[in-house]
Amino acid sequence: MLVNEERIFLCKPGRETPGPVLYWMSREQRVRDNWGLLYARILAGTTRPLVVGFCLVQGFLGATLRHYDFMLRGLAQVAEGLGALGIPFVLRLGEPGQEIPRLASELGAGVVVTDFDPLRVKQVWQEQVIQGLSVPLIEVDGHNVVPARRVSDKQEYGARTIRPKIHRLASEFLEEYPELTPPAVPGPEVGLPDWEAVRRALDVDATVGPVDLAAGEDAAHAALAAFVGGRLARYAEDRNDPTKDGTSRLSAYFHFGQLAPQRAALVAAGPGEGSLAFLEESVVRRELAENFCLHNPRYDSLEGAPDWALKTLDAHRGDPRPYLYTPEQFELAATHSRLWNAAQTQLRLSGYMHGYMRMFWAKKILEWSATPEEAHATVVRLNDRYQLDGRDPNGYVGALWSVAGLHDRPWKQRPVYGSIRYMNENGCRRKFKVDAYIATWERAALEAG
Ligand SMILES: Cc1cc2nc3c(=O)[nH]c(=O)nc-3n(C[C@H](O)[C@H](O)[C@H](O)COP(=O)(O)OP(=O)(O)OC[C@H]3O[C@@H](n4cnc5c(N)ncnc54)[C@H](O)[C@@H]3O)c2cc1C
Repeated sequence: MLVNEERIFLCKPGRETPGPVLYWMSREQRVRDNWGLLYARILAGTTRPLVVGFCLVQGFLGATLRHYDFMLRGLAQVAEGLGALGIPFVLRLGEPGQEIPRLASELGAGVVVTDFDPLRVKQVWQEQVIQGLSVPLIEVDGHNVVPARRVSDKQEYGARTIRPKIHRLASEFLEEYPELTPPAVPGPEVGLPDWEAVRRALDVDATVGPVDLAAGEDAAHAALAAFVGGRLARYAEDRNDPTKDGTSRLSAYFHFGQLAPQRAALVAAGPGEGSLAFLEESVVRRELAENFCLHNPRYDSLEGAPDWALKTLDAHRGDPRPYLYTPEQFELAATHSRLWNAAQTQLRLSGYMHGYMRMFWAKKILEWSATPEEAHATVVRLNDRYQLDGRDPNGYVGALWSVAGLHDRPWKQRPVYGSIRYMNENGCRRKFKVDAYIATWERAALEAG
């Protein structure tokens, strides 16, 4: 078997029929290094065609034109890459629960393969697709080096408990990908999607506009090569400085499945400090977030936080706030703090806030909101709306880590925070040139009008 069986999960058992194999592409929007697509190709064998279907849903978790634009640019490359291999790509607009069973029945598909995704909305789609399908549905984990269903069957306490499990299994799963070969039997002629028509049909919030970042697999591989060939060596030292371009900037490519995290791990692996730090973030921390969302259905609510954190936040509910802002004031970057406003401006204008600033940004929202519930909701909403890599398990975990101690431990008691870890501007000043960061984003705000 070319795809490790532990990546494969049978969602709907049943008897396969001899019809084409349908790969319902969802989270893994790429042709290369895609375990789900490879598995679908294996099932097609020498006797069946392979068809790739993608269902475009309007208004996904508050996604805006920024996100749809980036995704569609990437999908256009997917369609071409598949076309070059003789694999038809079918794009459907609508709800997967209707569209995927309909497509499967139009094709006379004998089996459907899809991607693993721990988010609730995706699990609901899968359930709906299962209801409508008369053939088996098979899920493949192409997002994690160690498959999320394999690494642990429960919610892990933190990095220290999942790290040894991942390290123990990594050598089994961190393997080179086989080549995707053209199917032996050609699929139906479907032509390329009319991308202009798709864009015209979009009914999404266009007030958050596209960002200037090259999309798609080729751009993702180029970004990975540039990082590994340059900044990786200094990643361990530079990654916490928001004025340095020290991190990989791969999160949007991972989020949209334009790059396999496993490819990044294969290319970046090595004995240096930079490599080790990068693998800790891109494999251990990222897969800890997948574990949390898979096992905690309240991952996007304050209720998903650990008990000690909920208790301490509750005990400090009545503490006077040093400043008090509404969600709208946060969104408009209208606080008293030039540093906080600069971070929000970076997010709004560029679709990317530096990781260190994400922590500071979210913790100050906790400190300056009326309640912890309102603070958490504001963090999630702004993150999902503006961050190009938003609506990701990493984002939901980042929000709960910052606001409510998830995967962290109790710290010294303070007003409002209780024993949640605290951050302030002086801490930032010790780490990096805060005034340079503020100047960059104040200038950008002026230029943007
Ligand atoms: C409040 C808050 C919100 C966040 N929202 C998101 C989000 O919506 N989407 C998102 O992908 N990440 C999110 N993160 C995690 C992290 O900040 C980003 O992944 C990272 O800054 C992206 O930049 P990069 O690709 O250059 O990171 P690098 O430093 O180059 O890291 C490489 C990869 O490791 C992973 N990673 C890095 N830091 C973390 C972390 N703390 N937890 C889990 N995985 C990590 C990411 O996949 C990242 O692309 C959030 C963190 C916080 C505190």
